[in-house]
Amino acid sequence: MKRIGVLTSGGDAPGMNAAVRAVVRKAIYHGLEVYGVYQGYNGLINGNIKKLELGSVGDIIHRGGTILRSARCEEFKTKEGQAKGIEQLKKFGIEGLVVIGGDGSYRGAQKLTEQGFPCVGIPGTIDNDIPGTDFTIGFDTALNTVIEAIDKIRDTATSHERTFVIEVMGRDAGDIALWSGLAGGAETILIPEDPFNIDEIVERLRKGQERGKKHSIIVVAEGVMSGTEFAQKLKDATNMETRVSVLGHIQRGGSPTAFDRVLASRLGARAVELLLEGKGGRAVGIVNNKLVDYDILELFDMPHQLDLKMYELSKELSI
Ligand code: ADP
Repeated sequence: MKRIGVLTSGGDAPGMNAAVRAVVRKAIYHGLEVYGVYQGYNGLINGNIKKLELGSVGDIIHRGGTILRSARCEEFKTKEGQAKGIEQLKKFGIEGLVVIGGDGSYRGAQKLTEQGFPCVGIPGTIDNDIPGTDFTIGFDTALNTVIEAIDKIRDTATSHERTFVIEVMGRDAGDIALWSGLAGGAETILIPEDPFNIDEIVERLRKGQERGKKHSIIVVAEGVMSGTEFAQKLKDATNMETRVSVLGHIQRGGSPTAFDRVLASRLGARAVELLLEGKGGRAVGIVNNKLVDYDILELFDMPHQLDLKMYELSKELSI
């Protein structure tokens, strides 16, 4: 293999730049040429592809977002769109493609691999919802952003003796809610993996009030329902007034944490190693702090497992 490509796709995540940097530097170190595909699969279809040099990825390790830009591309979900993408890759003489993104981006990489173009997937999403890896790039940074917000909200919740409902990202996976709720000392955490029981929550709040607790933090993953909807449910059940805070896109931004930068560097370099070994069609991850890789076509046969023990612990610690 002489020439590889790299793209970032779907929802951006802090640490994607560090992953791009690792792919580019590792590849050049081993004598490969690297081409950056801009704007995800959109740029792949349209040939928005440029050669990257060592200097192209200088001064980006600490920056959030992605210098390659990201995009959503409906056309790429079609066979015709995928064929156009492969045509562009061939035109540029690219023999292997590194795709950094979330589950949608992985499905695109699967399609290319199925059609004979080997891709390697790097998990880049704040949601931590990719199977085959304990952590995705961006999750730790997002978590720290949420914690900072929860700590600030807690100050005002304490002063005004209020209950706050904090809505965080996570459509199908409750990882951000669970980890931030546990780290932020939330009284209640609502995740898509566990249907909630309003009576149980009311009982928990009532017990807290009985022992003198005047404020509460409730973390709701957006996949359960919106923070506003949940606040209304609580009001209907108890007449309790709450304040709602929707953290939204701030969870996607910011300088990546040291953890995310190191993770991105390791995974990016491993992806290049696999291509050098002639192993396309793989997805890289980290399990028990060891780098692993799987057949990208079989990845979604494995479930993404939320740590249910940790979920139980969060309940035990918030009595
Ligand atoms: P993420 O990668 O963060 O999950 P999306 O789900 O929006 O983000 O996916 C990003 C892009 O990946 C989509 O805009 C589309 O171009 C491509 N993609 C998603 N699903 C498929 C699919 N089933 N087949 C081919 N491409 C897909």
